[in-house]
Amino acid sequence: MIPESFIQELLARVDIVDVIERYVPLRKAGANYQACCPFHTEKTPSFTVSPSKQFYHCFGCGAHGSAIGFIMQYCGLGFVEAVEELAGQIGLPVPREVSARSQEKSRQQPLTERMARAARFYREQLKASPKAIDYLKGRGLTGEIAAKYGLGYAPDDWQGLARVFDDYADAAMVECGLVIENEQGRRYDRFRDRIMFPIQDGRGNVIGFGGRVLGQGEPKYLNSPETPLFRKGEELYGLPQARAAIRAENRVIVVEGYMDVVALAQFGVANAVATLGTATTPVHVRKLLRLADSVVFCFDGDAAGRKAAWRALEASLEALGDDKLVGFLFLPAEHDPDSFVRTEGAEAFRRLAAQPTTLAEFLMRELKSASDLSTAEGRARLVHEAKPYLTRLAAPLLRLQLVRAVAEAAALSPSEVEAQLGLKPMPRGRPAPPKARQRLAPAALERTLLLTVLRRPERAARLPLELVSRDSAEGEALCAIAAAIEQAALPAGNLGLLLEHFRGSPHEPIIALLVAESESTASDEGELEAVFADAVEQLRRRDLSRQIGLLNAKARAGTLSREERQRLAELLALKSA
Ligand SMILES: [Zn+2]
Repeated sequence: MIPESFIQELLARVDIVDVIERYVPLRKAGANYQACCPFHTEKTPSFTVSPSKQFYHCFGCGAHGSAIGFIMQYCGLGFVEAVEELAGQIGLPVPREVSARSQEKSRQQPLTERMARAARFYREQLKASPKAIDYLKGRGLTGEIAAKYGLGYAPDDWQGLARVFDDYADAAMVECGLVIENEQGRRYDRFRDRIMFPIQDGRGNVIGFGGRVLGQGEPKYLNSPETPLFRKGEELYGLPQARAAIRAENRVIVVEGYMDVVALAQFGVANAVATLGTATTPVHVRKLLRLADSVVFCFDGDAAGRKAAWRALEASLEALGDDKLVGFLFLPAEHDPDSFVRTEGAEAFRRLAAQPTTLAEFLMRELKSASDLSTAEGRARLVHEAKPYLTRLAAPLLRLQLVRAVAEAAALSPSEVEAQLGLKPMPRGRPAPPKARQRLAPAALERTLLLTVLRRPERAARLPLELVSRDSAEGEALCAIAAAIEQAALPAGNLGLLLEHFRGSPHEPIIALLVAESESTASDEGELEAVFADAVEQLRRRDLSRQIGLLNAKARAGTLSREERQRLAELLALKSA
């Protein structure tokens, strides 16, 4: 784990304005900076970056967070990766606690340089090869798209790379997969006479290559092997190029081959990525669901394509949430995405992608077709077959829907199916509200206080904590913020740091919920201070009423002592003051 002190130091050393500016051009507007939001489509800027709070927020879609949060959201990285990226940008070494990874990272440095140099070499070779240029033109690709995807050409030469690598004999050449060494110790280029597709990671580093033969020949596609840089089960081809379009459409299309990605982009479908000669993994799906709410798998119409779709379904079960959609687009059997978009056009493709077969439909269809539902045995088999899928499905509401569908097909009741599958019965009727919202109603005061504290965290120091009810998520969060500020774990005012301090804590959901609301209220500081003061006053009055209520109850029971009688009179006087 990364120690929190390091996160604090990192966030103190970077300026969120510089960090975001690397990715999104910002304009100064008063004390803050503005831009059109990179996370939703808009014409007038509602994305705001506050240098004083080290915090960004979009009034349109509610996106918000610290510099780390921005990199996670924008680059689709996990927390640790985002911290490493940010630390790397300012040359701050990430401390030893993450040594396994960071050692690996430092090993990777020279390899990424090699890969970048090789990519440059292949690009230059493409310009010099009329044969390769003709091939790409024949596939309908323009120079613009070839440049966007950094396409290149590996010459028909056993040691072509030796022209740009003086140290062709270095072990690193084999390690990064560019060079193969045979049993006699002779070395030669892995890729020869192929169109080269550089594979980039989320940060734009070249980590591998895919190579396609120009004409006939085997293998048609050749990939880099797994290397310290390149893990096929985690990476997706075309992600850096597709990122903007994925956000704009809030949908990502996953295809099987690089050529599909590039051809779709050529015809204007820019939100496609490809898996890299492996089945879709849960890591892939999670990565994609961080970037868009909807993931559509579009594989070839043949038997292999259907098998790949089923693997993708399996990989999606655990990653899917009820607010996300995973769909499947089955093209006519004679087509792959490349040929389909070429003959039918982008509009036809988009229409299909907008109405995919849903995961639930696909799952039920396959399950039903595997059993003879006219027999009792077949219906029992259906329930048995459904079990591993339903138990792994992470989205509770979708699971409920599927339990119903299985029950109907098996002529059982949903609770019988749940019992058979060993599933915990789910609440019927209205779904349970998300945890953070659960106890909002009785905590109106704490909610108001938290809203004003999130606008200016140093307010928490002035809270009468003994009066704050810890009976709600808001109250608990208020106390936690005040405690953190008191222990100087948080420099007051830095909202970005506050969010990072509570990342992964039980307070994270309520803080995330209210910070967006708080930033969206137009009230100025004077008004907010008045709201805060009024809420603190109401806390006192609420406590007064509570004490009076207790004493009154005692009075009615006839157990009130003299001191208590006097106290009651004082309290009543205070209340009417
Ligand atoms: Zn937005």
